Amino acid sequence: MSVQTEILNEIKQYDTIIIHRHQRPDPDALGSQVGLAEILRKSFPDKKVYQVGGAVEGLDYLATMQEIPEETYQGALVIVTDTANAPRISDSRYDLGDKLIKIDHHPNDEPYGDLVWVNTNASSCSEMIADFWQLFPDDLVMHEEAARLLYGGIVGDTGRFLYPATSAHTLAIASKLLAYGFDAAKLNRQLEQVSRNVARLSGYVYQNLEIDENGAGRIIFTKELMAEFAVTDAETSGIVPLPGVIEDVLAWGIFVEQPEGYYRVRLRSKGPVINELAKQHHGGGHPLASGANAYSLDEAQEMYAEIQRLCREFVENQ
Ligand code: AMP
Repeated sequence: MSVQTEILNEIKQYDTIIIHRHQRPDPDALGSQVGLAEILRKSFPDKKVYQVGGAVEGLDYLATMQEIPEETYQGALVIVTDTANAPRISDSRYDLGDKLIKIDHHPNDEPYGDLVWVNTNASSCSEMIADFWQLFPDDLVMHEEAARLLYGGIVGDTGRFLYPATSAHTLAIASKLLAYGFDAAKLNRQLEQVSRNVARLSGYVYQNLEIDENGAGRIIFTKELMAEFAVTDAETSGIVPLPGVIEDVLAWGIFVEQPEGYYRVRLRSKGPVINELAKQHHGGGHPLASGANAYSLDEAQEMYAEIQRLCREFVENQ
């Protein structure tokens, strides 16, 4: 029996299903989480389906979360989407249910749960949820709102179908979702729009990005800089892809100083594999898009030296 069939069987058996995703959600986290929730609500109207995990940090045009008491977890099925490792799951009560299922497209370095469905070839976890629907068209009902959420997740994680994880299958699935009639132009605008402050900070990035001779890029956002531009950590997500449009840039790190003093490091690449580096610094992610933490400026410096080495080796091997 395929793992997808096993997952469907579990879903059929439980009256209460609680769906989690990762902390600091992005459109794919919310799209896969709430897209699945919306499909299940429509497909199984008698079941109680909840989406949890706290604030959605500026993405409330996609979805908002529900608050449920601890008792709700008793005898419930818990599904976690788009989350590679258990410590990143938003709302630590995820293990209070009767059974736990992981659905994800990140490398399965830290498995958790009773059932695990991981597909690292999928562009996004939202694509996997759409695949799940496609596998069981007699059991699962797609509809406009679920399609909007899944499409938003795919657009978010592929950078509007730009990144290499975008496959023919991704486009085929996106096409099927689009047919459900939601306002895709509006959604794309919502996904793309940034505040005036973030736009100003983008200008700072283009003015001040450090780029070495092999295309290793770096920018540091100190707490003072963030205060000067009046931008929060959550808002920096729109800035992360920007260095990639510069032709000389091959891989880059954006070091965002947190209120506690450490640096959240957002790593992106157009070639060199950067997730091993992320793993060595309290993080992880995809080969070309990862996140990590640096607990001092020295560690941040070390990480940039590593990005430089990866770029140099990549260029030498071309
Ligand atoms: P971000 O830079 O936060 O957008 O993250 C890029 C990718 O790296 C996402 O796929 C995340 O799931 C992953 N990632 C980010 N931070 C971490 C972390 N601390 N641990 C593991 N994976 C992470």
